[in-house]
Amino acid sequence: MYALSPPTLYAFRRALAEPRSRRRIQRMLAALGLGPEAAEAVDEAQIPDLIRRHGWSDARLRQGLLGEHQPLSLVFGTLRFDDRPAIRPVLDACPPGTSSRLVGDLLGYGGRGLAREQYTSRRGVCRARVQFDTIYGCPHGCRYCPGGKVAVVATNLEEFLHRQVIPAAEAEPWQKVFMFNSALSDTLCFEPEYGLSRLLVEYYASTADQCYLIHTKSDNVGFLLDLDHRGHTIVLWSLTGDAACERVEPGTPSAWERVEAARRCQEAGYPIRFKLKPIVPVRGWRQEYRDLIGRLLSRTRPESIGLFLLAWMDADELEGCIDPDLLDPAFLEALRDHAEEMKGVTAGPFPHAARAEVYGFLIDEIRRHDRDVPVFLCTETVEMWREFAPRLGVGPQDYVCGCGPQCRPGLRRLDEVLVPTEMRAAPAAI
Ligand code: SF4
Repeated sequence: MYALSPPTLYAFRRALAEPRSRRRIQRMLAALGLGPEAAEAVDEAQIPDLIRRHGWSDARLRQGLLGEHQPLSLVFGTLRFDDRPAIRPVLDACPPGTSSRLVGDLLGYGGRGLAREQYTSRRGVCRARVQFDTIYGCPHGCRYCPGGKVAVVATNLEEFLHRQVIPAAEAEPWQKVFMFNSALSDTLCFEPEYGLSRLLVEYYASTADQCYLIHTKSDNVGFLLDLDHRGHTIVLWSLTGDAACERVEPGTPSAWERVEAARRCQEAGYPIRFKLKPIVPVRGWRQEYRDLIGRLLSRTRPESIGLFLLAWMDADELEGCIDPDLLDPAFLEALRDHAEEMKGVTAGPFPHAARAEVYGFLIDEIRRHDRDVPVFLCTETVEMWREFAPRLGVGPQDYVCGCGPQCRPGLRRLDEVLVPTEMRAAPAAI
């Protein structure tokens, strides 16, 4: 587990009351050099007061809007499956502006989720899937991410496995790859003391053909190397260039350290994948990515490489999160010139031509080293796919990617796009 220094630590009484959850909390505290008394016991009625006292009402804004990277407070709770209290009354008692998502996390919402992402999704071309979250909040401090200040950590993982993970795998046999904690956290920061990865590695190793996907920016992989994964755990790294890593993702290991972690996992038999995500077009980005691609393809043999230019927000917000002086002046100009046109466009705020320039450069660089490795666009528009499909050799209907629900190890092209049970009544249309 990372050597965190949480400014505040709490544990909900519902977590302390369950022996395995309590032991998990004690293990995590011990890894931080703390005794069990370090986490103050609280209950749900105290949530508005905790948020007020610690200034967490803005904790789900993008971290770059909150100033410098702040240490992460920890709140240990449980996922609640049958008796979730209503969020609204608690939210109404919280300071104005508090995120309902944070209140829900503290109340025990979470676990199984459905990503309804298809060709028609506003987020761009992606694939619908069942996915899971047990931690909300992350120490990596990425300035574009709203996972700062406080992490809510669910500790009833054995119950979660039996009530949600195994039933989902059995109900969705078409889904071969399941992603965990990709929304607002990074599981490896809390391992091995958290113990989710071991449970999932062992469970998916027992299935016929389904996989656990670890999506990470961490290099904390030592504990994975000896696990009996049987090829049913895939490790996927998001990578950025040096400058972005230092200035935009201040709590992460460097790209070199992540590539080295990938090499170790590959040696231990894990299928490994990369996403260059998010690509931040800093001054000198071409040379940074040329070096990064050369390094990663000389040290590892990934199953695929994805490309994604920083998005998810309008131009004003991006300039609020990231020092504009960091950006390549031509890209900063494009950002500002197209700010109005790109408002509300999920693939924005960089316009199509700027994004296409980056993707074209990166595909050329990858192909200089490897003619064969599958390259894909991550949550890009249909228009971008139309432009690049001839060069990539695949399109929205058949590409394989890093975290796609059907993208089992070794697959190079999809025959048919399938969707979760809840969505079958309205199948995807291309
Ligand atoms: S690693 Fe992921 S979850 Fe953690 S701060 Fe960065 S973007 Fe957010």
